[in-house]
Amino acid sequence: SVPLAGRRVLVTGASRGIGAAIVRRVAGDGASVAFTYSDSADAAEKLVAEVAESGGTVVAIQADSADPEQVARSIDETVTQLGGLDVLVNNAGILPAAPIETLTIEQFDRLVAINIRSVFAATKAALPHLDSTGRIINIGSINADRVPLSGMSIYAMSKAAVAGMTRALARELGPRGITVNNLQVGPTVTDMTAEEGEIADTLRGVMALGRLGQPHEVASVVSYLAGPESGFVTGANWNVDGGFTV
Ligand code: NDP
Repeated sequence: SVPLAGRRVLVTGASRGIGAAIVRRVAGDGASVAFTYSDSADAAEKLVAEVAESGGTVVAIQADSADPEQVARSIDETVTQLGGLDVLVNNAGILPAAPIETLTIEQFDRLVAINIRSVFAATKAALPHLDSTGRIINIGSINADRVPLSGMSIYAMSKAAVAGMTRALARELGPRGITVNNLQVGPTVTDMTAEEGEIADTLRGVMALGRLGQPHEVASVVSYLAGPESGFVTGANWNVDGGFTV
């Protein structure tokens, strides 16, 4: 079956990791996909080639999520290239982990720009294009609710902000049929979270499944939320976390 046939999806920050897995999955499910990246042009090019090779429609757009004008431009380019927009996946994010004594104001501002302000900017720019089947899917973190490691102050703050924005926007956009959800992802093997080492051991120790997640295990949930069968799910801060919080 092609559950996402005719759907036009933009995934932010998807040259690597969870975003790239979302691109592969929704393209495989029949959607036309655009994605943004900032620095990893080679990885973005490879992803485009891979998805195109397997018959998918995919476009890469260079746009720094820290810059609201570039974010807005990426929405416009998506609409031009794909002929519209149905689903926005706010995935781009950074994880500056350090004790509060060493975190700088500049790191704080950059994190807020990428992890929070870009979600606001992309959502604002996407809304005029979304109809009553529109979907906004945020990639948050279980660290909004639980923080077993030290050094996570501003990251956890940013993902709690996304959770709050998700609830409020679900309320605001519900009358238009647009759903807004937030996947509170648990430790998942990407460049952000290594599979081996002391940190990984600590994380596994608090997870019911006793293992880290794989990017495709997040992407499958995104595909469900992007599709026609999830229309009654909105305002959810949905834990996809291997039992990190149980
Ligand atoms: P990675 O570090 O593996 O990949 C991050 C992606 O975001 C890259 O494609 C990168 O592109 C892009 N990106 C980063 N900064 C920018 C920017 N300024 N503008 C545009 N794109 C940007 O991270 P993950 O895949 O692990 O994380 C994806 C999301 O999932 C994040 O929001 C993260 O907080 C969240 N998450 C991850 C968890 C994990 O354990 N991995 C757990 C919980 C949540 P480029 O290299 O081209 O700049």
